[in-house]
Amino acid sequence: MVLQKALLAASRRPALRRAVTGTPATRRVVDRFVAGESLDDAIAAVRALAPDGIAVTLDHLGEDVTDRAQALRTRDAYLAALEALAPLRLGPAAEVSVKLSAFGQALPDGGHDLALELVRPVVEAASAAGTTVTLDMEDHRTVDSTLAAVAELRKEHPATGAVLQSMLHRTVDDAKALAVSGSRVRLVKGAYDEPESVAHQRKRDVDAAYRRSLEILMSGPGYPMVGSHDPAMLQRAHELAAQHSRAANSWEVQMLYGIRPDEQRRLAAAGTRVRAYVPYGADWYGYFMRRLAERPANVAFFLRSLATR
Ligand code: FAD
Repeated sequence: MVLQKALLAASRRPALRRAVTGTPATRRVVDRFVAGESLDDAIAAVRALAPDGIAVTLDHLGEDVTDRAQALRTRDAYLAALEALAPLRLGPAAEVSVKLSAFGQALPDGGHDLALELVRPVVEAASAAGTTVTLDMEDHRTVDSTLAAVAELRKEHPATGAVLQSMLHRTVDDAKALAVSGSRVRLVKGAYDEPESVAHQRKRDVDAAYRRSLEILMSGPGYPMVGSHDPAMLQRAHELAAQHSRAANSWEVQMLYGIRPDEQRRLAAAGTRVRAYVPYGADWYGYFMRRLAERPANVAFFLRSLATR
């Protein structure tokens, strides 16, 4: 827990970012979790997953932008990604995930409106290409703004996806509100270091809360996206799908690129819809540090690779 908090704090420290990203050996470890730095790398990963029947959601890495110019570059990167996906003709099997903080959400004076203005053309381009956009969820201070943006975008593009984090106390209520027809909701445990006032602190409480929200989403008329690598949560999702006679195409499992790839293939071969979250781009530091924080074994792997450089 102490290590996890330290890594999550480090994920937002610019000085450490420079030290870690400047280390050549880091690259080998990062490659396990990130498809590459370029859009071509991301497309190659999509092509490699497709034969196994694994859908994708592409994430152009970046978060916490500090000016409008950066936010515009994020928009353009996503428009380019959708253009590059089009010739693959994967339709909804290749969507994109966006972080509103990369679209300027946190900028003072109108950050929310700016993010909405810049993400809208991405959602429109995705709809025109027959696919969707999911709005990732960041720390708890962004939840109201992000859910409001999803609600606004859903008016014209009802398949725009939301993400809920079971660690937050509010999430059971949010799950009830979003368990409606046509709504796509990814349920995750939550990757940010959150205070006790807003979030469960113990893993068993986060897991119990995950199960509660999973039941709400799986018993409702929406399209649940079960974002987890946890065998217990995946088993529970399959039990609930059977219990509620859900068609195989009415929900999906989502996992991160490079994490439990064998299980991703096994589930897809067994008839479960599976989507991999494929991050790419140069700005991988925050994403990478959150993956280290999730699993002590990843830190050991990282340290070993530094030692054997
Ligand atoms: P855990 O209890 O953390 O792990 C269960 C098991 O999964 C572990 O024992 C291990 O075998 C494996 N595992 C888990 N994590 C790792 C890892 N990093 N490396 C190797 N093995 C691992 N969080 C957000 O806050 N906002 C988001 O928008 C968001 N989007 C996500 C999208 C997807 C598709 C997924 C899968 C996760 C996303 N997350 C997001 C991250 C999520 O909140 C969790 O931090 C992460 O998924 C770990 O939780 P878990 O459910 O896999 O279970």
